[in-house]
Amino acid sequence: MGLMYASTRDEKEKVTASQAILKGLANDGGLFVPTEIPALDIEIETLAGMSYQETAYEVLKRFLTDFTEEELRYCIDSAYDSKFDTEEIAPLVDADGAYYLELFHGSTIAFKDMALSILPYLLTTSAKKNQVKNEIVILTATSGDTGKAALAGFADVPGTKIIVFYPKHGVSPIQEKQMVTQKGANTFVVGINGNFDQAQTGVKQMFADRQLADQMDEAGYQFSSANSINIGRLVPQIVYYVYAYAKLYANGVIARGESVNVAVPTGNFGNILAAFYAKNMGLPIAKLICASNENKVLYDFFATGTYDKNREFVLTSSPSMDILISSNLERLIYRIAGNDAAENAALMKSLNTQGRYEITEQMRDALKDFYGNYTDEKETAEVIRNLYEKTGYVIDTHTAVASGVYHKYRTETGDAETKTVIASTASPFKFTRSVMEAIDGRYDRMSDFELVDELSRIGNVKVPQAIEEIRTAPVIHDTVCEVEEMPSVVKKFLKMQQ
Ligand SMILES: *Cc1c(COP(=O)(O)O)cnc(C)c1O
Repeated sequence: MGLMYASTRDEKEKVTASQAILKGLANDGGLFVPTEIPALDIEIETLAGMSYQETAYEVLKRFLTDFTEEELRYCIDSAYDSKFDTEEIAPLVDADGAYYLELFHGSTIAFKDMALSILPYLLTTSAKKNQVKNEIVILTATSGDTGKAALAGFADVPGTKIIVFYPKHGVSPIQEKQMVTQKGANTFVVGINGNFDQAQTGVKQMFADRQLADQMDEAGYQFSSANSINIGRLVPQIVYYVYAYAKLYANGVIARGESVNVAVPTGNFGNILAAFYAKNMGLPIAKLICASNENKVLYDFFATGTYDKNREFVLTSSPSMDILISSNLERLIYRIAGNDAAENAALMKSLNTQGRYEITEQMRDALKDFYGNYTDEKETAEVIRNLYEKTGYVIDTHTAVASGVYHKYRTETGDAETKTVIASTASPFKFTRSVMEAIDGRYDRMSDFELVDELSRIGNVKVPQAIEEIRTAPVIHDTVCEVEEMPSVVKKFLKMQQ
């Protein structure tokens, strides 16, 4: 039998990969984890010659063992195509003694595209494999970025519809423009007169509504979520670490078997967990450098063994990392607890009720592969300016947090020899204002689009398609509703009522 997936809160609940993708969360609220991490038993010489798509196949087939070769190749080829603006998909850029792995060449110029471009295909294939006849309706509440990446991923994917709710007055003008101009006959974007929490609560209530589920089923639909804890988002993120390592070897930067560090700007802990899984597959990774912004709950956790979300929430220039509960950390906790679901469940219960938990000394010992640190807002801006002045290379605010933490790691440990890959999670064009003002204070007088052109000029990079589009694209979605109206808006879109 192939690899199975167990819940982090109850090891009796075991499902196949395709079932785990379909379900998203386990019944008990736990996350699905593979019952073992498969080995990356391929020669580095072979990997070194592979395209991104071929590498993806080698990684995915080891985790998604109930998919056929044909199914996997279909998913991979549908995802990693001309939606990406480079055939390399995830290029490596050498700047100032580190290797920036650019994960922002997809449709929304941020790293969520790496997983959200393949998830729709994994999901529809999983539905077919499990005799699900209904069309999948993705329901999401967004505070900005994830909604757009999900829309772009699901747009025009056969057998799916996607409905995104956002707070009408709670996202940036650019984020709103990105969403309301979304093409695709199966996409629906709705502003609500309320905040993000209300949008989120409204979506959760629809997921839990049995009567609505029955009506949906009758009409040939069922809900699913594109949540970041889905194993169908995690596994595709392992691919680019393997790919980056193989490219470093192919380019003669590292010798056979040489270890590299990986530095990751972290929020929900998905990206760095993928690197941890890659290491456990046998990829020679030395340190996993976990970088936080001023919401440094993870830094404190690595430093003290106590996870404590009871603190002030800080708004920073790296908003995708402004998170106090890193959901995917649960998968690491489960593992360092010796795959003990009961122990993990107790800790998660404590997080739920008290907002904190403390791990044992023994569990802390198992975290030696990680190094955690953070940068404050001033340091983050300095990193962007210094790198630009030294090399001409412009990085975004999230990537700058990782770069800054990598430099702290070097200074603290004296490890300047180990080659280091820094996950570059967003294009600087996505956070133009913060990036440009970090480079030079006088940019505060320019408009957003003037800044885009100026960034293109000083960084010597073309304005990405995703940005060009929103300058001119027509508004397609103009529905606005009250919070209470969310279910009826859904039914109207699905033509279940007039
Ligand atoms: C989501 C996101 C992150 C954080 O990634 P996690 O997997 O949630 O840790 C970092 N940078 C950017 C730009 C993101 O969009």
